[in-house]
Amino acid sequence: MANIELDTLRKEFGTGGQTVVAVENVDLDIHDGEFLVLVGPSGCGKTTTLRCIAGLEDVTSGTITFGSRDVTDLRARDRDVAMVFQNYALYPHMDVRDNLGFGLKLSTKLTTDEIHRRVEDAAAMLGIEELLGDKPKELSGGQQQRVALGRAIVREPEVFLMDEPLSNLDAKLRAEMRTELQELQHELGVTTVYVTHDQTEAMAMGDRIAVMNDGVLQQVGAPETVYRSPTNEFVANFIGSPSINLFTAEVEGSTLVGPRDFAYDLEDTAPVAGYDRVRVGIRPEDMQMVSEGGTTATVTVAEHMGNENFLYLELDGHEMTARIDSAIRPQAGETVQFTFDEDALYLFDPDTGDALKTK
Ligand code: ADP
Ligand code: MG
Repeated sequence: MANIELDTLRKEFGTGGQTVVAVENVDLDIHDGEFLVLVGPSGCGKTTTLRCIAGLEDVTSGTITFGSRDVTDLRARDRDVAMVFQNYALYPHMDVRDNLGFGLKLSTKLTTDEIHRRVEDAAAMLGIEELLGDKPKELSGGQQQRVALGRAIVREPEVFLMDEPLSNLDAKLRAEMRTELQELQHELGVTTVYVTHDQTEAMAMGDRIAVMNDGVLQQVGAPETVYRSPTNEFVANFIGSPSINLFTAEVEGSTLVGPRDFAYDLEDTAPVAGYDRVRVGIRPEDMQMVSEGGTTATVTVAEHMGNENFLYLELDGHEMTARIDSAIRPQAGETVQFTFDEDALYLFDPDTGDALKTK
């Protein structure tokens, strides 16, 4: 087993005289045995980072080490990694047993007995022993995905690399497989880098998450830490569903003055010292409805769903969301007032987006 260290990893693509910087000087230490989720919007450089770790892309600069091994210049097949992709292609004419064992027969000098053992072990681990004699077309999408995972597991690699492996599954199965995959990884203890654009998936699965934007690593930390203490406005906005409410406020003495009649008196003015304007963030679950003395907002949509209510609010053209107590049931078109605790307030630099205050 090994940790993975990316040291100022950079990957540029030259296309038609133009240079695209897909990965910009990323420093990242993935702990031994950890499940690290690399998350960010489409095109931010996740797949490229993963392919660099796998050895499928040459790096422009920087180094990649597995434990004490510098693998930067090693070929993919010499790195001891197993990859699982979104588009897993099983061999249609082979049964599950052969699909699982085929790669081992091809690329290793293992004995037939050892291959048999590994296939049996992987099948047991994935709960697909009964399917070993079946052909891929006889399997459901979820079962096929398990076989694809099994092909990675039988390799008994030092590192698992997974690129959106669950995106082709329907929502229910995806949720099931998340848990299963996570349990399996913890059982195997193999250092894993898992890529997704879905922040919910990242939050649910990662021991730690690494948030990327535009080729740049923004923050690495436990899901809860990143949620509560984002380093900047991008991370605050990207992590969390529904998204954090964000708007610009003027700093007037100790008061933040925002849209409509928003005026919030700060007890602690240290975070806004020297600013005449800041970006304000409030998570939907921190919005409190009050009968008077709060900020006025108009309800545009009220979603009452079982134990949760979502209110979509409008304040002079600013849209905001509140997740509130199910006992309160304002309707669309009504005017409400909200407030929040200062503890729950996020503040960001209006130019750089850097966090000035988080929870
Ligand atoms: P993600 O997986 O986060 O969606 P990618 O790593 O696939 O992002 O892409 C990051 C950036 O690099 C994008 O701008 C993409 O267009 C570019 N890119 C990726 N692969 C290539 C390539 N082979 N040639 C040129 N540009 C590429
Ligand atoms: Mg990708």
